[in-house]
Amino acid sequence: MSILKKLLACSALVLTVSAAQAQNLPAYDLLLRGGRVIDAKNNIDAVMDVGIKDGRIARVAAGLAPGDAIKTIDVRGMVVAPGLIDLHTHNYTGTGERNSYAGDSSIPPDGFTFRTGVTTVIDAGCAGWRNFEDFKDRIIDRSKTRILAMLNIVGAGMRGGKFESNTFDMDGEAAAKMAARYPGLIIGIKTAHFDGPEWAPVEQAVIAGTKANIPVMVDFGADRPTRPLYDLLTKKLRPGDIYTHMYSGLRQEQDLKTMGPSKAFIDGRARGIYFDTGTGGGSFKFSLAVPMIKQGFKPNSLSTDLHITAMNSSTKDILNVASKFMAIGLTLPEVIAGMTANPAREIKHEELGNLSVGSVADVAVLSVQKGRFGFTDMVNTKVEGTQKLVAELTIKDGKVVYDLNGLEALAWDAPQGDISQDARWTSWPRPVVRSH
Ligand SMILES: [Zn+2]
Repeated sequence: MSILKKLLACSALVLTVSAAQAQNLPAYDLLLRGGRVIDAKNNIDAVMDVGIKDGRIARVAAGLAPGDAIKTIDVRGMVVAPGLIDLHTHNYTGTGERNSYAGDSSIPPDGFTFRTGVTTVIDAGCAGWRNFEDFKDRIIDRSKTRILAMLNIVGAGMRGGKFESNTFDMDGEAAAKMAARYPGLIIGIKTAHFDGPEWAPVEQAVIAGTKANIPVMVDFGADRPTRPLYDLLTKKLRPGDIYTHMYSGLRQEQDLKTMGPSKAFIDGRARGIYFDTGTGGGSFKFSLAVPMIKQGFKPNSLSTDLHITAMNSSTKDILNVASKFMAIGLTLPEVIAGMTANPAREIKHEELGNLSVGSVADVAVLSVQKGRFGFTDMVNTKVEGTQKLVAELTIKDGKVVYDLNGLEALAWDAPQGDISQDARWTSWPRPVVRSH
């Protein structure tokens, strides 16, 4: 037999073997065993196993057999949640523009997401209709994190005061047109940082949001008597729109007599406005959050507003934000809901943020560490807490993308076993021939 024929025979054999293996694959590629599953959308809070197959959730139940999985990971004592959604981040980095959220003030998402259990971020208005496609090409299409976007109502995007207060560049029709070009990717409209006395940014944002059937998120900018918060939340916005930076205290969020929520907040919530934390660098104070939560005014969603200042000041990351809210009265299931099912509902993408059978298999495995922890706010005051959430394992589209303590790894001197199907459950399959 010639060498060529031998090679062909060999490769035919390999093909036959892998086809046979494909037919005999176990029911699950990956099995997460024995964790506390918290899935708000499905009202689950119980110790269960999660079976994953072909990048989708295949089964959630107690007592799934490890023999039915290519890989089983023991997550006893840990929390198993849907991959976290951070509703408010800034990711349009890399343009080289200084002091701009369409530039140096933004952060690359992959450096901040998987290590905190986040699999989806919503960029909150860094780009407008003029530069969205540059943002898409530069960041969205090249990142491993799922990035959805709220389009800034300002055509030029979030490039600083002279752009963001330019009412001539606020065009609801043009924004709606761009949103229509990317349905499912542009999932909202953002207005932010407006300094002027007019309603133009909010009105144009609502025009765009209505045409594209997507929500509007408002950072209400400077507090102006010509556009009171009460009118924003009870007249200008639609039910289902989102008010971010809810505990900043910069725009009459708090009733100064009761220290609880203002009438604008109470009536806005009654109409169906969603309230989001967006804690950021200068948008969260305990002096609002503590009394408002005590009086029952809790956030719908826990987001970071992550950017170059937020990442190293009081916000740090989404699990620090969640732990902070646990220290001031929210329960673990409440903070999980605020980072999963709730933001998914706010952006009308309820296929995300849950562990329903058939859903995309994005999963955050978290540990709840006990100890003495400190949490701070924008004016550098502090609350102490006894619990802190830590991301142990993050799974996106059915594959492990982050593993803090090697939960899925083999001991270095353990027998390797069959590793031929590793690529089905991990983003870093082991090499077939191990080097010593
Ligand atoms: Zn922001």
